[in-house]
Parts: sequence; C-alpha cells; structure tokens
Amino acid sequence: MRIPFLDLKASYLELKEELDAAYYRVMESGWFILGKEVEAFEREFADYCGVKHCVGVGNGLDALHLILRAMDIGPGDEVIVPANTYIATWLAVSHAGATPVPVEPDERTYNIDPNRIEEAITPRTRAIMPVHLYGQPADMDSVNEVASRHGLKVIEDAAQAHGARYKGRRVGGLGHAAGWSFYPGKNLGAFGDGGAVTTSDDALADRVRALRNYGSHVKYHNLYKGLNSRLDELQAAFLRVKLRKLDEWNERRRKIAALYLDRLSGLPGLILPYVPDWAEPVWHLFVVRHPRRNELQRHLEGEGIGTLIHYPVPPHKQPAYREMNDLHLPIAERIHCEVLSLPLGPAIQRSQADQVVAALQGFDKAADQKADNTLRVVRQV
Ligand SMILES: *Cc1c(COP(=O)(O)O)cnc(C)c1O
Repeated sequence: MRIPFLDLKASYLELKEELDAAYYRVMESGWFILGKEVEAFEREFADYCGVKHCVGVGNGLDALHLILRAMDIGPGDEVIVPANTYIATWLAVSHAGATPVPVEPDERTYNIDPNRIEEAITPRTRAIMPVHLYGQPADMDSVNEVASRHGLKVIEDAAQAHGARYKGRRVGGLGHAAGWSFYPGKNLGAFGDGGAVTTSDDALADRVRALRNYGSHVKYHNLYKGLNSRLDELQAAFLRVKLRKLDEWNERRRKIAALYLDRLSGLPGLILPYVPDWAEPVWHLFVVRHPRRNELQRHLEGEGIGTLIHYPVPPHKQPAYREMNDLHLPIAERIHCEVLSLPLGPAIQRSQADQVVAALQGFDKAADQKADNTLRVVRQV
C-alpha cells in the first residue's frame, strides 16, 4: 500500500463530527469576519503559548510582515534571517521594505547558528528573525543574548513549531513577537489559509490588530495604511477544534520520530536529525540527509513511499533574490542538496513507519547489489 507524505483527509475524518459542528455554528451565525470565533481562538492560542496576546491574521507570511510593520522596520533597515529556511521568512522582510541578511545554520540542528550572527550585524540591523525549522526550536537564549547586546528585536518564525518547547518553555513567547502559519500542512493547520501573531507587548499587539484591518481600530477611522489580512471565522472555529488535539497529535509525531531515530541509526551515509538536550521538537518534518539524496528519493518512490525536499533551492539562489545569487553560503547550499523529508504526521500508523524503515534499509542492499555487480563485471573484463 502506498504511504503518502502527509494525509490531510485523515485528519478531517478523525475530527469530522466536531469540525462539522463548528462549520454549522459559523454558517448559522451569519457572521464571518472578526467575530466570536476569532476572539475565542485568539484567547485560547495565547494561553496555549503562554503569552498575553494573539492576533489572528490571513497567513504566516502576513503575520511576520505585520510584526515588522508594527515595529516600524522598513526601507533602509536590515533584518537577520536564516540562510536555511522557507523563503517566506525572507519575503516578509522584503515586503516590509527592509533587507534580509542571511546567516548560516548550525550544521547539526539546521537552525540559525547564534555564533555567526554578530558578524552579520551592521548599524542598519534592527531585528533577528530565527526560525524553529522543521519543528525544532532555535537556540533562543543565545539569539536573545546577541540581540539584547545590540539593542535588536527578536521575531520568532514559529510557522513550523506549534507546541515545541525550548528549555521547557513554549516557542512563540521567547522573543518580542512570533509569527505563526496555519497552512493546512502545519502541525496546527486550518482548512485553508490562516496565521497569527503572538506577543506579550500590549502596544505591539494593538498595532498589529489595526494593521491587519486596514489600519483601523474603529470602523472608518484609519490610523495606518494597513492591510486586509484577517483570520476568518470559519478557519478560527476549525482551529479551535484542532488546538484541543494539538498536544496529542504532536505526541503521535514524537512516537514515529522516536521509532525512525531508533531503527534508522547506523545506516551508511544516512544522517539523522540531531536534537539538543534543551529542545522538545514537534517534528513538523523528519528530515534526513544522504549524499545520494536524489537516488534515495527515487528508490523510496519505487517502494511506494512519498517524500518531499525541504527545500530544494535556498532563498539566496532563487530568481526572486537575483541580487543575492552570487552569495556563497556553503553550509546552507550543502544542506539543500542532501535533505529528504520522510512521511510523518498524526495519521501515520506504526506499520507504515515500519515499511518506511524497511525501504530505507533496502536502499543500501540495492546499492550494494549494484556495486557488487559492477565489481563482478570489472573483474570479468
Ligand atoms: C509555512 C511557513 C511560512 C509561511 O506561512 P503561510 O501561512 O504559508 O504564509 C513562513 N515561514 C515558515 C518557516 C514556514 O514554514
């Protein structure tokens, strides 16, 4: 049986009754934008993250962009971003009119290397935007330490890390503000687009609240040149249902990740995820590395196992950032050539994980066989 990379329909079916009830509740209320559901979700998610405020917005990219706008970060300013991330982190900075300045990752955790941040700071630097990549928290104490020494803001890109903990504390409250995405494939995913900002800064929350709604707190009074970027009532109602399941679903991911870590250790060439002792990741993705990544992906595909690459091209090599295409960031570039994400999600069964393990073990046997045959041919010649 084929194992898909991620089965989103299964997560609907598991919660069908509650999700359908949420749907009817909103439809019958006749109120679809900025109402009771969004307010309730904002309160529940703020509590979950251990912060004072949550502001629902249209998506994760807007969440990060609106934080920068609310901090008055824009043209002429620089924001330090990871070289190794999804491009949205960089785009948020560019849309605010500021310049993303990449810093290489730690090669073991794939997250921004705090030891390399200082050398990237200039008089124009205003903020650092660490990403909790693949669901694993960045080294926030070290990032915060550099930031406070230089008077910089810290904005967490928490789009892949709903529920993750750093030294026992939930991400999303570890800097000045955090941006979240509820894209369907995320650990806390809506059934469409959605996002949020979390912060304990009253003034910042207030500004984001206005900026997401045409720059207005009071209808037809516009304080800022804002956007229209709101979480809608339907998505908020769905997210409230799924938030109640988040810890349980993250626990399922943890079990599968533990199985992979145990059973895949020692396979030649395969590099498994490294988890520092202060990190409690939520395994948004289970990313392995292999020097023959493309071949491995083809082999798994042949065994009916869906994998994805996060990400095939780093932001500085994208046409969208052609002004940076000549930059050489060797660690990020090497990582992008070798990473492969294995199937992992709340719907994966143990037997399916076993099948993934067997297929990975089979890769080496298949490769040995090939090498053996080649050797035999060489000898015969
Ligand atoms: C998904 C994601 C985003 C963007 O979120 P959207 O809701 O898709 O706009 C930003 N940063 C990271 C690291 C992400 O994975």
